[in-house]
Amino acid sequence: MDVGILALQGAVEPHARSLTRLGARPVEVRTPADLDGVGALVLPGGESTTISMLLERQGLFDPLVERLEAGMPALGTCAGMILLAAEVLDGRADQRCAGAIDLVVRRNAFGRQVDSFETDLDIGAFTESGLDPTPFHAVFIRAPVVDSTGPAVEVLASVDGAPVLCRQGCVIVSSFHPELGDDLRIHQLLINEVT
Ligand code: GLN
Repeated sequence: MDVGILALQGAVEPHARSLTRLGARPVEVRTPADLDGVGALVLPGGESTTISMLLERQGLFDPLVERLEAGMPALGTCAGMILLAAEVLDGRADQRCAGAIDLVVRRNAFGRQVDSFETDLDIGAFTESGLDPTPFHAVFIRAPVVDSTGPAVEVLASVDGAPVLCRQGCVIVSSFHPELGDDLRIHQLLINEVT
């Protein structure tokens, strides 16, 4: 299975390692033609303002929105969560969101308290998916905070009442970085949407 990783900017390689370990073939996506060839897409962490600008420059933003509207499974982590959301607060004026999940997110909002932190998350969806139900060790780096969620959004994990892992249909977003470390369970949730 070919799983794309948006490779315009940000942490591409660790996602490629996780996908390979799950038996998928990671494909770097930089152009509309690259996007045509993949069955699912990971939008990695990085800088959402830069990735948004590069998506426009590559003529990739509108094709991405079309694929998402047509039901392509996607996993967005950190900056990727911002790009998949419906609306971003504290973004740059020209920054775009794909609107694939009905969330309003605020950039760098955890970062006001502390730039980075780690915590263990209880994720009930692991049990439903037949995965190991033990807590997931999550790393947050200048992470976005979910300000509000629409009715179609499932909140799969929270920190201090703030959603940090959400799903709407086959679109999954995390404000943390599941590609850091050896735990493949969040990527497995994406793969489960494809197979
Ligand atoms: N603060 C970044 C942004 O707004 C996200 C940080 C990250 O992806 N680690 O895009």
